[in-house]
This record gives sequence, C-alpha cells and structure tokens, in this order.
Amino acid sequence: VIRGPSRNLIIDTGLDNDDCHEAMARYIGTLEIDLRNTDFLITHLHRDHFGLVSKLVTDTSKILFNKTEFDFLRSEKNLENIFSYTLGKGFPKKDLPTSFSRRPLRKVIMKIAPKIEIVKEGDTVHVGQYRFKCVFTPGHSWGHMCLYEPNRKFLVAGDHILDDITPGIQCHSDDANPLKQYLTSLRKVEKMDIALVLPGHKKLFKDHKHRIQTIQKHHDIRLNEVLRILKDGPMNAYQIASKMVWDMNGEQFHRASNVQRWFATSEALAHIRYLEEEGRVIKNVLDTKGKTPDTYQLSVEQVHANGEQEE
Ligand SMILES: [Zn+2]
Repeated sequence: VIRGPSRNLIIDTGLDNDDCHEAMARYIGTLEIDLRNTDFLITHLHRDHFGLVSKLVTDTSKILFNKTEFDFLRSEKNLENIFSYTLGKGFPKKDLPTSFSRRPLRKVIMKIAPKIEIVKEGDTVHVGQYRFKCVFTPGHSWGHMCLYEPNRKFLVAGDHILDDITPGIQCHSDDANPLKQYLTSLRKVEKMDIALVLPGHKKLFKDHKHRIQTIQKHHDIRLNEVLRILKDGPMNAYQIASKMVWDMNGEQFHRASNVQRWFATSEALAHIRYLEEEGRVIKNVLDTKGKTPDTYQLSVEQVHANGEQEE
C-alpha cells in the first residue's frame, strides 16, 4: 500500500477467497485506508495478484493494468486454448486442472472492465511524494509490469524477481518464447540502479544483481537438464517434465496434484521452446489435429556438440 495525501495506491490484491478478503479488510482498517480514495495497480494476471481486486474496488477507484493481459482475459476462449495446447504436448486429458474453469477470471475482468486504465512501459504513476515509472518485464507472464521509484530507487517487482523462490515461467503457445522474454527482462532490470526490491511474495531484499545472476544460473541448469533427458531419444513435453527434478513438497512427479503437474509441464515447455528456437531441439509434429502429442528430440547440431563434449 502506498499512502498519499489525497489518494492511495494498492499494488496487487491477493486471491479472491474469504481468508484473503478478511486479511485485506483487517489491514486496510489498521492502516485507516479509505478504499474510496484508493486506486489499484495489478502487476500481472495471476489470480494471487489480481483475484481480489473486484471485491475491493469502489465507484471512485481505478485499476491500472497492462493491455496484453487485459485483452487475453477478455477473450472468450483463453482457458480452452491453453488447455488444448498442453493436451497436444502430452498432458493427460483426465488430469486437466478443472478448478481453473470453476472460477473463471473472465467473469472478474468483465465486472471491473470499466474501471481499468491501461498502463504501458515508461508511464508514470503519481502517488503523493512518489513517482513510479512503469517497467514492462514480460516473461513470468506476457504483460508483467514492475514499478520503479527513481528518487528512492526502489523496485516494486511483482513476480519478476523474488528472493528465495524462482518465479515460474510457463509456456502456453508455440508462437511464444517466454523464457527468452524473461531472460531479456532480467537483463533489463539488472542494469537498473535499485536500492530495495519489494517483491510480490516473501521478504524484501537489496542485492538485485546477485539475485538475478542466481536465477539466470537456475535456468541454465534447467536447459541442460532438458538436453540431458533428450539424450535418451524423442519424447513429448509431459514425458520430459516427468523426468525433470521438481520441488513438490517431497512428492514424486507422478504422485503430485494435477495442478502441480500441469504447471510443471508448462514450465518444462518454456525451456523446451527456448532450446527449439536456439536450434538445439527439434519438434516433431506427429498429428496436425493434436491427437498424438508432439515429440521433441536433440537437433543434429546438438548431438554433434554432445559428441565433441564427450571426446
Ligand atoms: Zn505470478
């Protein structure tokens, strides 16, 4: 919450469930924030950042949001398209996380659409003594937006960089390369002069450059893991995901929940797509109607590079 003399700004709102609503109401009360004098900025479309806004917004509030994700959430078939993409990559149909469609975000967005004001890279959001610059940082999601205060040098990071968890990178289309976008956004933020990071989860931190280097290394390790798995021959993305190492509260991949396996498959796909665009992995389309999942294999160049490494 950024408090201003006439208007306040709340950045991200939490999940749309009773526990979050209660906690928010309690803290808004403690801080004596009048929601009628409060606007909202949503860093990105994920439910844990965006979900509750429809219950907090008042007639005199506005909601600042990015255009890419506003358009996506308003589109009729957003979830259907994402589901059919993962099915075409080997995710079992019976395991699709149906909980996503029970409370569709489209309903939320249609309700609040008149309150939304689009913000883009370079726009300034004034709140009292603060001037926040919008910094477009796609990767964790398509339209992710951070806020930077140049005088105080703090970065409101959303889920772009977090201190002790690695932000998830999910791929939902073969036209996208979210990991490449994410690594580009990391380099952009790495160059900035930042004294304090205020992330969307867990604790505040200072040394953003060191944290970014650790996240970059993590993705390097993941990319090499996919290459190593594919040495065993062609397989689909779900099979690749099942062989990767995941931190799932001690659960094995096959015993993890549908939602966890679905996110793991989308995360594996982000790494596979990156390697595909680099020419290190090739996609085999076995059925244009998507009934038999696409498989992936190492490219001739990559097999050759592996051979040289082993020599
Ligand atoms: Zn997120």
